Amino acid sequence: MENDYRKVQMIMQLRSRGIRDTRVLEAMERVPREIFLPEIFKDQAYADQALPIECGQTISQPFVVAYMSDQLKLTDRTKVLEVGTGCGYQTAVLSHLCRRVYTIERYRALLKEAEKRFEQLTLRNITTMAGDGMKGWPAQAPFERIIVTAAAQRLPTALLNQLDEGGMMVIPVELAAGRQELQRVTRTAEGFERESLLPVRFVPLVEGLAKEH
Ligand code: SAH
Repeated sequence: MENDYRKVQMIMQLRSRGIRDTRVLEAMERVPREIFLPEIFKDQAYADQALPIECGQTISQPFVVAYMSDQLKLTDRTKVLEVGTGCGYQTAVLSHLCRRVYTIERYRALLKEAEKRFEQLTLRNITTMAGDGMKGWPAQAPFERIIVTAAAQRLPTALLNQLDEGGMMVIPVELAAGRQELQRVTRTAEGFERESLLPVRFVPLVEGLAKEH
């Protein structure tokens, strides 16, 4: 009950911060963020902040999830690749906005928990893989949209190659001095166009499948 009220407030706040696409707002409303959080943070589910999860990772801030979803310009025909499933919150939002989400996570333990949540929420258009998302998903390429939810030192070549012509990738990129910005990369007939969107803070994109601890 309490969380329902907080969720309505969160949606109103997203609108006031410039998220106007009703499909995106509806998707944000449909996903119960509390189920993606460790027990001790469940009461903070609808505060607009990133929070720690298992394996030293984080759940993204609702505004950033909504903003990235918005910037991807999705339709119910779109096929999306997501790198960095984490708890699966962004994946769940995407699943309401597109045809199919392929999502890759380097921690098997996180992926297992995320899969349980997709099952619980009966989200049937998500395909998961444990692996190094920097390599993309060659068997399913090309993708019309790619979303990376961990900060890259540079744009991963494999992901650029797996982007369809006219396709877009939204990715946080490390700048100097520990700063990061969200960028949108569009593939054109001539090459790639880069736009900078927003200063952000994400955990780093790390090569290779994680060793479990
Ligand atoms: N999308 C999540 C946030 C994920 S945090 C949400 O909605 O809350 C970033 C995730 O990216 C972490 O779980 C981290 O393990 C994962 N990650 C980092 N580098 C990766 C890589 N090379 N391949 C796949 N996953 C990666």
